[in-house]
Amino acid sequence: MPDPSTAQTRSPATTLVTAGRPAHEPDQPLNVPITMASTYGATGGLEYGRYGNPTWTAFEEVLGALEGGRCLAFSSGLATVATVLDLVGRGATVVAPRHAYNGTVMQLADLESRGRLTARLVDVTDTEGTAEACADAALVWLESPTNPALEIADIETIARVAHDAGAYVVVDNTFATPLRQRPLTMGADLVVHSATKYLAGHGDAMLGALVSRDDQLYDVLKGRRDLVGAIPGTLEAWLALRGLRTLHLRVDRAESNARTLADRLRSHAQIEEVRYPGFGGIVSIVLAGGPDAADRADRLVRSTSLWVHATSLGGVESTFERRRRWKSEPATIPEGLVRLSVGVEDVEDLWADLEQGLDGSV
Ligand SMILES: *Cc1c(COP(=O)(O)O)cnc(C)c1O
Repeated sequence: MPDPSTAQTRSPATTLVTAGRPAHEPDQPLNVPITMASTYGATGGLEYGRYGNPTWTAFEEVLGALEGGRCLAFSSGLATVATVLDLVGRGATVVAPRHAYNGTVMQLADLESRGRLTARLVDVTDTEGTAEACADAALVWLESPTNPALEIADIETIARVAHDAGAYVVVDNTFATPLRQRPLTMGADLVVHSATKYLAGHGDAMLGALVSRDDQLYDVLKGRRDLVGAIPGTLEAWLALRGLRTLHLRVDRAESNARTLADRLRSHAQIEEVRYPGFGGIVSIVLAGGPDAADRADRLVRSTSLWVHATSLGGVESTFERRRRWKSEPATIPEGLVRLSVGVEDVEDLWADLEQGLDGSV
């Protein structure tokens, strides 16, 4: 392990490459091994496979160092969301963006329908309205940018108001990654990730994680993970760690590709609207054509050879989908909206494939 005092001063790129490694000693591997174990010799710190695993720990060290807190890995992003939402007491009010990740909104609706809590969905671009909604909340859930509307929340202001109300502040940082936004430095208590997306980055593993800046809150959540067993697979944690080593390279390349594509798409005749927050690799486009926009979007996603029609995001490979094909997508998302997850391919190849698809979609 690197000396933590020097690790503090190093840049994220160096942390991504160097954190979570075995000690540099003769015959030690440079990479942490995949430890397949359901139990350990008694009286040490680990004891049983549900309580800890050295491969998870290596992943957690890297993400914790990047976000600036203590990390816990989970079996998926949504297992992490469920564990965090379980922090609030019966009948509590939870404020969340109406355009938060669909699974998060569905969990809130499910908990509300069973009388467990009250969900108050807000427009997070309306800082004043969101602040008012926080008055009697126990937990304020933020996501910025939102998915797929790509709205930006004023995290610092909302966190301040939420804390005055005594609420926990949680930020789902999946889209921005800790390389573009560090919510714990902006007032959040917890950061949540679907590591399935950018962190793992290769479309081959599902994993979730949270990072806490408070030791007591970390202990409570570690206790919940121990108890309910929403633990990561060892191989998945190792794959995500392998992915993290190149996160900075992948995010930089996806972002520069996304920027170029967003600029060109803005002046394309078949596009009514381009949503790009100015950073990251996700671009949402709304096709022109009024009532025909949904059909055009459906034709577009079937007409490319490089862009893959698939859900999910944040992989090396460029993917896209019309979001309203999902029944659970809110009606406030336009029918003709296609979310692009821009990968790390050559941008001219991506543009040529997209342009011929758009020209053929009319
Ligand atoms: C995918 C996603 C999730 C859910 O994560 P899974 O790993 O699919 O369970 C949560 N939040 C955001 C923003 C996501 O994109």
